[in-house]
Amino acid sequence: EKRSRIIGPGSPGFAVNAFSSAPSSQSQQRLAGKVAVITGGASGIGKATAAEFVRNGAKVVIADIQDDLGHAAVAELGPDAACYTRCDVSDEAQIAAAVDLAVARHGRLDVMFNNAGIGGRPLRPPLGAMDLADFDRAMAINARGVMAGLKHAARVMVPRRSGSVICTASVAGVVGMGPMADPAYGASKAAVLGLVRVVAAEMARSGVRVNAISPGAVPTPAAIRTFTTLLPGKSAEEIRRIIEENVNMVVAGTVLEAEDIAKAALYLASDEAKYVSGHNLIVDGGFNVTRAASRPTES
Ligand code: NAD
Repeated sequence: EKRSRIIGPGSPGFAVNAFSSAPSSQSQQRLAGKVAVITGGASGIGKATAAEFVRNGAKVVIADIQDDLGHAAVAELGPDAACYTRCDVSDEAQIAAAVDLAVARHGRLDVMFNNAGIGGRPLRPPLGAMDLADFDRAMAINARGVMAGLKHAARVMVPRRSGSVICTASVAGVVGMGPMADPAYGASKAAVLGLVRVVAAEMARSGVRVNAISPGAVPTPAAIRTFTTLLPGKSAEEIRRIIEENVNMVVAGTVLEAEDIAKAALYLASDEAKYVSGHNLIVDGGFNVTRAASRPTES
């Protein structure tokens, strides 16, 4: 069960009334008629985004490698609105096939959410002992996978002169995160930001927008697994609380959830962002401009 995520003047009732994303009528559906592919859509941020997109009238193709979770997500969202396809983003042909599936099934692709990724290694060895195979793996999934997603989204969006591509980077691609952060993860996410900056220019000429979202720490299954390595013996719920209360720059009275990233993606996917391209929408409560800069480990 989910505890209330808005604290203070927001009783749960206040939160629902003021901020509910459940549209009461079709006119409020911000993605009505749009078709989206979401890589990494079976879990965490991607799954929350699939739900947000469907609530807003989109059809979604969930592309992931966790088949059971992907099928479960489709069962929750409804088979009319969502479908699942196995897609390893490190294999370009599988990304091409996911894009083609969306077009075959729905006739078009409006939104490509290049979100699949693997996290950094929390207990990595010192630089001198690092295995560069780990670097190659992070780059193959987090960076090359995004490049393949951009390429195949362009293939179908550019001829229609319309579309929105969103790529999940990370606050770890913006700031250094301290002396023991994983260089492979940071580099792969910085690469995503570089890709977005470069590709946005070319795509804008074809009416296609390209943006990044950089989340702070969100207690998704992946993040909880990562922190469990660092904090053995703690329960998932304890780790969730540590992430929510200590890791991010805490915005008083609330916490960062996968749904907050989904709402950022919803904005960038929608026509409300029709003139936003080449942007990195950082959703970290201010961590990158405050806490990251003053961390004792960095001085
Ligand atoms: P998650 O593990 O809950 O979801 C990631 C999904 O990506 C999983 O379903 C996984 O199966 C899928 N995936 C992994 N490798 C894949 C591959 N090769 N091909 C296709 N799918 C693959 O984790 P999440 O936290 O929701 O992560 C989503 C994105 O957000 C990632 O790119 C991650 O780096 C990024 N991110 C997460 C956080 C955080 O704190 N959770 C912070 C910043 C950025």
